[in-house]
Amino acid sequence: MSEFQGIWVVAELTAEGQLSETSQELLTPACRLGDKLGQTVTGVILAANQDTTAAEALLGQLGASQVIRVTHDQLAEYHVEAYTAALSTLITAKKPNIVLAGFSTTTMDYLPRVAVRSGGGLISNAIDLDLNPEGKVEVTRSCYAEGLLSSVSATVFPQMVVIKKKAFPKPIGNGAHQAPTENFQPDLSSVRAGVTVLNVQQTESKGAKKLEEADIIVSGGRGLKEAGNFHLLESLAEALGAAVGASRAVVDAGWRPHSEQVGQTGKTVSPKLYFALGISGAIQHLVGMNTSQMIIAINRDENAPIFKSADFGIVGDVLTIVPELTKTIRDKNLSLHV
Ligand code: FAD
Repeated sequence: MSEFQGIWVVAELTAEGQLSETSQELLTPACRLGDKLGQTVTGVILAANQDTTAAEALLGQLGASQVIRVTHDQLAEYHVEAYTAALSTLITAKKPNIVLAGFSTTTMDYLPRVAVRSGGGLISNAIDLDLNPEGKVEVTRSCYAEGLLSSVSATVFPQMVVIKKKAFPKPIGNGAHQAPTENFQPDLSSVRAGVTVLNVQQTESKGAKKLEEADIIVSGGRGLKEAGNFHLLESLAEALGAAVGASRAVVDAGWRPHSEQVGQTGKTVSPKLYFALGISGAIQHLVGMNTSQMIIAINRDENAPIFKSADFGIVGDVLTIVPELTKTIRDKNLSLHV
């Protein structure tokens, strides 16, 4: 039997200390792999002094049979050196078989370093995974806006996989199951923080919801013509209970904040419904939204590339169609059940 045992889920917490949506989704493939391999699922939380009891409880309810809480003062804020040292020390000590994490700027910053330090093999951008006949994880990863799917396996342990948001549904859970928590205190005395966090500011997404967590996103591009016309999108987003997104062209023009940018150099989103309004559909935009369950595009150019990715397309002027759509939704009191 291999010395590497167990499936780990690296849990990320929200600013309020709750288990992030993406971390909850990880329990679905983790439990599936755990059942097939007959190995336990462990949730791993990195934290300082904050109260993580709600996140620990939810990990248990969603299928983890234990939780390891890695604690140290240096983990109060995200520092790549401290997080890398803490997790690689734990991995080296406990030798998990599989480590799953959700895609975020933080995990993509420190997990490659953890893989190097702990000798593991890291596969990113996973959209699906299963076991091959040898019992190793076979990962389907996407590139070029899902234009290319590759199957990849790690050749060393632990097998580390970073999974895209919304690749898996959240598990239903098993009610009140309480997973025991073990505290692990890594020695971080040799960690030298090369940077200091000066200020952390919560950015606001206009519209009803936060972009990454919204079921519906209404995104606008240069076809909106000017910043002032985005109030049309905000009204539609409000009527639908959606979040507002943007293409890079309008962010670069200063029409919208960077926190709303979707795409290669912005956020990766995967809502149930994505409106691309006056957006051409450049590959750098598509990589950030192409896994949306349904895409509706409005563009006045019938040959715009976005129509190749859209499930429904309307050829026409966004400035006329969007207010009519909002009015109809409001007048008829329509709500979209997505
Ligand atoms: P345009 O390409 O100018 O398209 C505007 C569209 O609006 C056109 O299709 C036009 O037909 C339509 N239109 C015009 N008027 C109307 C109207 N009245 N009604 C309806 N339709 C109308 N882009 C991103 O979005 N996100 C990224 O993260 C990103 N990262 C990048 C990274 C790199 C390294 C590079 C090189 C580029 C990146 N880009 C990114 C930029 C990307 O290549 C495109 O330039 C950008 O997505 C275009 O934005 P757009 O569709 O709003 O504008």
